Amino acid sequence: MSEPAIQEPYRVAVVGGGLSGLSAAHRVIELSKADGRTLDLTLFEATPRTGGMIATKRIGDYLVELGADSFITNKPAGVELCRRLGIEDELIPTEDAWRKSLVLRNGKPVEVPEGFMLLSPAKVWPILKSPLFSWAGKLRMGWERFLPAKKTSTDDESLASFVRRRFGQELLDRLVQPLVGGIYTSDPEKLSLRATLPRFLEQEQEYGSLIKASRAQASKRSAAEMSGSGARYGLFTAPKHGIQTILDALREQVKASATIRSNCPIVSIERSDDNWVLTTANGESENFDAVILALPTHKAAELVQSVSADLAEDLHGIEYASSAIVVSGHKLSDIDHPLDAFGLVIPEIEHRDVIAVSFSSRKFPGRAPDGKVVLRTFVGGAMHSEKMELTDDEMKKVVRRELGDMLGVSGEPDFEEVVRYENSMPQYHVGHLERVASIESQVAELPGLELAGNAYRGVGIPDSIASGEAAAERILK
Ligand SMILES: Cc1cc2nc3c(=O)[nH]c(=O)nc-3n(C[C@H](O)[C@H](O)[C@H](O)COP(=O)(O)OP(=O)(O)OC[C@H]3O[C@@H](n4cnc5c(N)ncnc54)[C@H](O)[C@@H]3O)c2cc1C
Repeated sequence: MSEPAIQEPYRVAVVGGGLSGLSAAHRVIELSKADGRTLDLTLFEATPRTGGMIATKRIGDYLVELGADSFITNKPAGVELCRRLGIEDELIPTEDAWRKSLVLRNGKPVEVPEGFMLLSPAKVWPILKSPLFSWAGKLRMGWERFLPAKKTSTDDESLASFVRRRFGQELLDRLVQPLVGGIYTSDPEKLSLRATLPRFLEQEQEYGSLIKASRAQASKRSAAEMSGSGARYGLFTAPKHGIQTILDALREQVKASATIRSNCPIVSIERSDDNWVLTTANGESENFDAVILALPTHKAAELVQSVSADLAEDLHGIEYASSAIVVSGHKLSDIDHPLDAFGLVIPEIEHRDVIAVSFSSRKFPGRAPDGKVVLRTFVGGAMHSEKMELTDDEMKKVVRRELGDMLGVSGEPDFEEVVRYENSMPQYHVGHLERVASIESQVAELPGLELAGNAYRGVGIPDSIASGEAAAERILK
C-alpha cells in the first residue's frame, strides 16, 4: 500500500508590515484556508512594530492619531475588510455638527462653499455668496458650462492645467490647490488628474462641462452625500478607538496562522531555480515560492535591482514627498476661533509655514476630553520640503505661531508632539499610470513576485488594502 502523498506547504513571504503588507498576508491566509491549501507564510517587518505609517496613541485622556485618521467609504475595500475582521460595528461616522471645511483667505478662515466637491462647484448660490472669490473669479467659474470639452480624452493632464482651463486661475489658487494638493501633499502643476481624480476628466467628456455633470448627478446623489463641503467628509469613517484598531485586528489574525518577524529588514532578493531567496539584515537566507513586496517603491527598487534593473529604474521613477504632523491638545477656552468645522486648508498664495490644520476631535467623538480639542497641523509636503529641516523644537515654535495667527490659539498646550513622515507620500505625477502599467507588465514576467502599496493605484487606506489583497490573489492563482 502506498503512503498518502504529503502536501508541501506553499511558502510565501510578505515584506513590509504596514497596512498593505498585513492586508496581503491576511488575504493569502483567508484564500488558502478556503482552498484547503497548506501554507507557510512569513511576514518580515523592518521595525519593532507593524502598522507602518498608521499609529493611534493615548496621551492622557486624549486619543491621538499620529498618521491617517479616517478613510473614505465609497471605495469598498476598507469597510469590507473591517467586516471580515469582525470590527465593522466599531466604525463610526463623522460628527454631523461640524461637517464643513475652512480655507484661509487673506489670513482669515473662510467656509468652503457648500456642495463644493474637490474641484467642482455643485451649487451656484453658495459660490455667489462666498467671500472667497472676486466677482471676476465667480463669472469665470460660471463660464465653465459654456466651454467646450477638450477634444482628446485620453491625454493625461495636470490638476492645475485642468482647473485653470475649465474654471480659471482664481479657483485653482484660492481653493483647489489647498484642498486637492493637501490630500496628495503635491504640486498641482505636476499632479496627474487621470491618476488621482479621473472622474472629472470623464465628466468633461460625457457632459461637456463639470457644472452640467454636477447638476445631472446631484439628483441621483443622496442628501447625506451632498450635505458636506470640501473633501466630502460625509463619506469618511474611522473605528471608535482609532485607525490602529484595524491594524491590531489584522495583526492578530495574521499572527494566528503565520510568523511575523519584526525588527527584521530584508536586504536582498534573488531568483534561484523556481524559488525566491530572501536575505535578512543579520545574514540569514530563506527560500520562498512567492514574495509580495509591500514597500514604498524606493525600497522595493533597491531589492529588485539584482532581479531586473529596468523594473528598479521604473520604481525609482515614482517620486516621494516628506511631511510632518505636529499633534497638540488644547483647552477650547484658549482658542478664539469656534473651530466649527473639520479643519482648515491653507493656499500657497497665503504664504504661510503650514499646509493644513485638522480639528481632529471635531471629526470623531471620543478624541479629546470635554472642553478640549486635538489639532493636527501639517508641515512640509512636496512644495515645502525645506521645512523638514527644522528641528522638532523649531517646528513646534512655527506651528504655535501659525495657530496663534490663524485661529487665535494661545496658552500652553496639554501636549505637543512632532511626527515625521520622510519620503512617505508617493507623488502621482503626470504620466503616473503609464509608469505603473510598465511596472505591472514587468512584474508579470517574474512569476511568484508581486508588489503592493499606496504608490500604484491609490494613496489612501482602502487603496492600500485593495492593493495588498489583489497581490495576494495574484500569487495564489
Ligand atoms: C501623515 C499621513 C496622513 C495620512 N492620512 C490618511 C488618511 O487620513 N486617510 C487615508 O485613507 N490615508 C491616509 N494616509 C495614507 C495611508 O496612511 C497609507 O496609504 C497607508 O498607511 C500605506 O500603507 P503601506 O503598508 O503601503 O505603507 P507603510 O505604512 O509605509 O508600510 C511599509 C512597511 O514596510 C516596512 N519596511 C520598509 N523596508 C523594509 C524592508 N527592507 N524589510 C522589511 N520591512 C520593510 C516599513 O517599516 C513599514 O512598516 C496618510 C499618510 C500619511 C503619511
